[in-house]
Amino acid sequence: MSLAKGMLIVLSGPSGVGKGTVRQAMLKDATNKFKYSVSMTTRQMRPGEKNGVDYFFCSKDEFEEQIRQGEMLEYARYVDNYYGTPLRYVQETLDAGTDVFLEIEVNGAMQVREKMPNGVFIFLTPPDLSSLRNRITHRGSEDTTTIDKRMEKARQEIKMMSNYDYAVVNDEVPRAVKRIEQIVNSEHLRVPRV
Ligand code: 5GP
Repeated sequence: MSLAKGMLIVLSGPSGVGKGTVRQAMLKDATNKFKYSVSMTTRQMRPGEKNGVDYFFCSKDEFEEQIRQGEMLEYARYVDNYYGTPLRYVQETLDAGTDVFLEIEVNGAMQVREKMPNGVFIFLTPPDLSSLRNRITHRGSEDTTTIDKRMEKARQEIKMMSNYDYAVVNDEVPRAVKRIEQIVNSEHLRVPRV
């Protein structure tokens, strides 16, 4: 019974909701066996970020070349930059029977839904919008115009929640992590549809 492919877990949610913190907490826990798919982006590296760990940082030309070569599972433009998921890593990891975790925005997630409908789509939501603005502001890496753009984007993204299988409120990181782990564990017990 080990011929089954790995499961694709897709986590979306507005910028600043804490997806990265939740993902890192999950990766630290050795009982979680999934691999994180590192995305490509054209945005500037933030202090503390590492190339190849947080993202593969690249130029607009390099990104567009990857699109032309059919190397992206999905991609989106988000607040003036490209973000995308390299296809090969996802495919090879799933084929090897290992779960893959994507942390991506909603337009990309909907492209993945089309291509890989058996994935598990989870939306991480803030308790309310003011807590979201506080989080983005305290991160300190964006100017006011960018914060406003990210908040507008967040309002649009929250409207897309109904396209997901599960919604998880990020009131406290450990609780959100536990909820996502419960979802993943239950999905593993699902009887396959024939
Ligand atoms: P940030 O600039 O805050 O790191 O990311 C901005 C948004 O892009 C976040 O919502 C993040 O989840 C999303 N994102 C990161 N990687 C990808 C990706 O590969 N594809 C898509 N569609 N969105 C991504």
